[in-house]
Amino acid sequence: MRCEITLRPVWHADAVASMDVKYAFDALEIGAGEELCRFQLRTVSIPGCEPENLRAADAAGDVPLSAADSAPYPYELRHFTAQRAVSGAVKVEYTVRPRVLEPEAICGPYFDLRAEEGGANSAGISFLAAFEGCAGDISLRWDMSEMPEGSIGVCPFGEGDVSYTGALDTLRNSYFAFGRVKCLTEGEFGFYWLTEPYFDMPGIAAYTRSLFAVMQRFFSDTDPTYRIFVRKDPFLTSGGTALHRSYMFGWNDHQPVSVEAKQTLLAHEMVHNWPRLNDAPYGRTTWYAEGTAEFYSLMLPLRAGLMTPAAALRELQQRTDNYYTNPTRHMENEAAAKICWQDRRAQRIAYGRGFIFLGNVDVMMRRATGGRRSIDDVVLRVLEIDRAGGELGNELFLSLVKEYSGLDVTAEWEAMRTGEHIVPMEDSFDGLFTVREKTIPEADTGAMVTSYEWSLRNKGDA
Ligand SMILES: [Zn+2]
Repeated sequence: MRCEITLRPVWHADAVASMDVKYAFDALEIGAGEELCRFQLRTVSIPGCEPENLRAADAAGDVPLSAADSAPYPYELRHFTAQRAVSGAVKVEYTVRPRVLEPEAICGPYFDLRAEEGGANSAGISFLAAFEGCAGDISLRWDMSEMPEGSIGVCPFGEGDVSYTGALDTLRNSYFAFGRVKCLTEGEFGFYWLTEPYFDMPGIAAYTRSLFAVMQRFFSDTDPTYRIFVRKDPFLTSGGTALHRSYMFGWNDHQPVSVEAKQTLLAHEMVHNWPRLNDAPYGRTTWYAEGTAEFYSLMLPLRAGLMTPAAALRELQQRTDNYYTNPTRHMENEAAAKICWQDRRAQRIAYGRGFIFLGNVDVMMRRATGGRRSIDDVVLRVLEIDRAGGELGNELFLSLVKEYSGLDVTAEWEAMRTGEHIVPMEDSFDGLFTVREKTIPEADTGAMVTSYEWSLRNKGDA
């Protein structure tokens, strides 16, 4: 199967007003009454684009379509069904518009198509239709005829027109920026932004370049492709979100931006390029993705000398206190995932418990094997199995811990999953820190609860 996608952004009144999207398939077979494509109108708390003027045609002419919506949590979908059989060369076209931010909008995951100074940026899922199971030779073309001079389009595959062989969905799980995009690049590593910042963007770009080299080595990754997209938020807070060989991070006029302030966020989002388990149903393995991102966003920069032990200590302390003072910390993983976009406190617990649980399993493995094996062995093996297309469940994690260390950590995993109190173990985080119990006021309630105070084992490191 070949598919060519053309993106034609349209500039009007000094901003990106809309974008025409065209798909041209060389061969597509859809039965009468079957779904042609679908749109992700909402992803967790973030609205996607409603397609306007959607039409499809094959050699026999226009294809009559019907639309219906569904809402499998945490998505809202619009399905377009072909009213007759479709075959051969098929064209699908529609128009999307950037999100209009409601005054009450707050920072959430960066999925939306948003216009900003000089252009727009988005995750693919917000404006690209999903064609189930489509894979083959995919090419992406940018038509900049309706954009200001000097406009370019970028996605993780490169700047301008690109092509690859693989799943069409990979493009939906990628970041895009277009318009007068500014960049700092080195080979296939790129850093892209639109709004001119007041802070040291080249410094941050250089830091992420060093981080990528460190992480690429650790995760045995030979693909040099990685692209980082920057967005200016109109909010009081900003964040970051990772997709296929790319992530986006935000900044605003209210929070300081520097390598120090963004150090761990930039590392956290980058780690997401590698460790994962199958997270369906949603929430089942989020502890692993977020826990490894929290764990390695500290340990890899620290081991490489890109972060000082004192900075790592501050982060470790903040993450520990954030978890133990979170009033939702006793929720079970999937129950927390079900409410986490209504109660954002519940969205954070996978990060804290995953991080502390992985730290503990690391200590247990090191102790059981005389230091020969650690959590690194398990995480790297999961990644190998992922690359080979293997099954990626919680069971895989538990069986690999056993294989490498002889330990059955099912009970500890179960305690983590169900939100029982976890006690962080001394010697975790490469043995650099000591830990003792303390009490601290719980967030929102003020009730005194147990947390843990970390200190540097070797005070000279501070
Ligand atoms: Zn994350």
